[in-house]
Amino acid sequence: MIKDLFTNLAILVSVLFFYSQVSNKYPLQTKSTLKIKILIGVLGGVLSNTLMQYSITVDNTMVDLRHIPTILLAYYGGAIPALISMIMTLVGRFLISASVSSYLAILISVSGTLFALFFSKQNYSKKVKILAIVTFNNLVFSIVFSYLVSSLIIVLKVLPIYWIVSYLSAYLSFYVLAYIRKSQKLFNKYQTESTTDGLTGLNNVRKFEEVFEHLIKDLQTNEQKLALLFIDIDFFKKVNDTYGHSEGDVVLRELGLRLQQSTRTFDIVSRNGGEEFTVLLLDCPLNRANELAERIRKNVEDTPFTLHSGKEIDLTISVGVACYQETTKDPTMLIEDADKALYQAKQSGRNRVCNYGQ
Ligand code: GH3
Ligand code: MG
Ligand code: MG
Repeated sequence: MIKDLFTNLAILVSVLFFYSQVSNKYPLQTKSTLKIKILIGVLGGVLSNTLMQYSITVDNTMVDLRHIPTILLAYYGGAIPALISMIMTLVGRFLISASVSSYLAILISVSGTLFALFFSKQNYSKKVKILAIVTFNNLVFSIVFSYLVSSLIIVLKVLPIYWIVSYLSAYLSFYVLAYIRKSQKLFNKYQTESTTDGLTGLNNVRKFEEVFEHLIKDLQTNEQKLALLFIDIDFFKKVNDTYGHSEGDVVLRELGLRLQQSTRTFDIVSRNGGEEFTVLLLDCPLNRANELAERIRKNVEDTPFTLHSGKEIDLTISVGVACYQETTKDPTMLIEDADKALYQAKQSGRNRVCNYGQ
């Protein structure tokens, strides 16, 4: 008996583990879409039915953990997934046998689900909610079980074990879900942080290099052009020295925004470090890259940057441009060539756009 209930518990935990892996991007919440709620409700129903297949038969009545998935669904996703799972569980129960036991299963399931839905909304801690919901289920189950099973000895033998395993599996299920969700959240957060520049929200240099490597590989199969703008703010150190580092940050953020607004959604804008930005222009010839670079340069020159203090300051940028197939024959040299072009723009007086080899 204990063995069988632990089989139920093992199935439950493995399915929860598997489920939380595949649902990483769409965890069930009360604000999930209807489609997600229905889908996960159905999954819960399948799980409950699986648990029923491994139930223990005592005097024509079945003992298992089928109530746990519905409780989890009610807690995390509200009425829709919980009711779907509940109905599937009841249908499954009647497919096994239509007896007094299965009619009473309706009573247990419906009251348990409604209580779970009601109590999840109350203002208690998660632990108390689980305790109350599982206790309610156990109580109703115990009353029905005692009514169905004639032998008092069996009732007294089964119920304590049922109560213990029921609590244990409920807490363990909630723990497993919360633990996996938390690790996934952290993982997603670190993944984003490792590719994003914290100040501007643009790609960071690591992501830039990753995308660049990828694009270069693609160029070997599709003979497209690829242009790169290397952008550096002129005399940026002066901004920091005059207005402070945090005002410098305001400027960097604003420039990041302007670069994003002036490029196409599939162009790749990155902050490569300090006050240096790049724009990778896919399938873009040199003359178009120059037009864009010039438009950005002019925008920076003509539109002052508003600092946090409200003060407006004038800035300029220098831009180096290289283009695979036009200025640059070897795509792996693109970054170096654009950087050299930028150096040339600085050397020849700043606030200008230079092409590599110009
Ligand atoms: P040039 O025209 O030759 O580019 O002159 P510059 O002053 O812009 O160039 P330099 O490389 O000497 O200075 C870059 C400055 O950028 C130095 C550093 O204090 C500043 N900087 C680098 N990273 C950040 C940052 O994250 N925030 C702020 N506010 N400043 C930064
Ligand atoms: Mg600079
Ligand atoms: Mg610099």
